[in-house]
Amino acid sequence: RAKDAGRNRAVVYEPSMGALVRGRVELDRALRQAMGRGELDVAYQPIVDLVTGHLLGFEALARWNRPDEGPSTPDVFIAAAEENGLILPIGDFILGRALDELLTWRSTSPREISVNVNVSGRQLQDPQFTGRVLAALAHRDLPACSLRLEVTESTLVGDDAVAVQSLRDLERAGVRVSVDDFGTGYSSLSYVSKLQVHEVKIDRSFVAGLTTRPEDHAIVRATAAMAQALGLDVVAEGIETREQSQSLVELGITRGQGWWLGRPLPASGAAELVGQLWTPAVNVAMGLPPAP
Ligand code: C2E
Ligand code: MG
Ligand code: MG
Ligand code: MG
Repeated sequence: RAKDAGRNRAVVYEPSMGALVRGRVELDRALRQAMGRGELDVAYQPIVDLVTGHLLGFEALARWNRPDEGPSTPDVFIAAAEENGLILPIGDFILGRALDELLTWRSTSPREISVNVNVSGRQLQDPQFTGRVLAALAHRDLPACSLRLEVTESTLVGDDAVAVQSLRDLERAGVRVSVDDFGTGYSSLSYVSKLQVHEVKIDRSFVAGLTTRPEDHAIVRATAAMAQALGLDVVAEGIETREQSQSLVELGITRGQGWWLGRPLPASGAAELVGQLWTPAVNVAMGLPPAP
């Protein structure tokens, strides 16, 4: 009987497991070919001064347009790339593209402008990573301070010796480091302050509840106060309403990003925004709804 039950269970689970593995093998194969086929792309979401409305820069976000399946979400394919190691070439590709765009933005922007690039723990653990980042900057004659690397809390908490050294070397060279999705992991500001970090990005889950959940408001307020006391820059992500933007400014958070300020744009759209005198961000500063 027990054997029957075991066999039954196997009958129930095996096909779906097989499908799962096949799906994963297929995803890995498709991702491996994606770069060579030009299917990978980068979108750029504006980062804005919430008070003046000035465009401060963009966050580079990976995009993958699969020919038959349509766009695939980075949460899924970046996680796969981290597991199968493709994050190293993909990460280099994204960085290179973002720096190329930064170069053109800087030639037309009336102000200093920077780019944020997400990096995964796997990249920081690569002893050659720092060298490649600095070479990519030098190759384009870009100042190191115009690049911010976004790392998540879990990456920092990993305590990997090479990763910690990478952060130190990058900071020494002038590259800024930003803690992404801050507040969702287990790290504290006191821990983060011991690392070579310049900025925390308050996770959008807190911003979402800012004007409706007193708890979220308290978390954002306390995080902002502590971060500022520690000399860290604070950026809010996921700003979807004008009320959220105003509430952040009242708490002393003057830099942010979110759909209300601007969706991720293709490179052409980002370049256009840099050259515009009247940006959606300017409308924000004037208390007007952002331009479509
Ligand atoms: P993230 O770095 O926290 O990026 C912010 C995500 O929030 C982006 O999702 C962005 O499109 C989305 N977002 C921006 N504003 C709003 C808003 O107002 N409301 C809401 N609901 N969402 C907003 P996306 O592009 O799907 O990227 C998801 C995650 O994938 C990123 O989260 C990041 O962790 C990862 N990722 C994306 N590109 C890269 C990359 O080049 N390298 C690495 N390592 N990870 C990447
Ligand atoms: Mg990010
Ligand atoms: Mg984030
Ligand atoms: Mg995120």
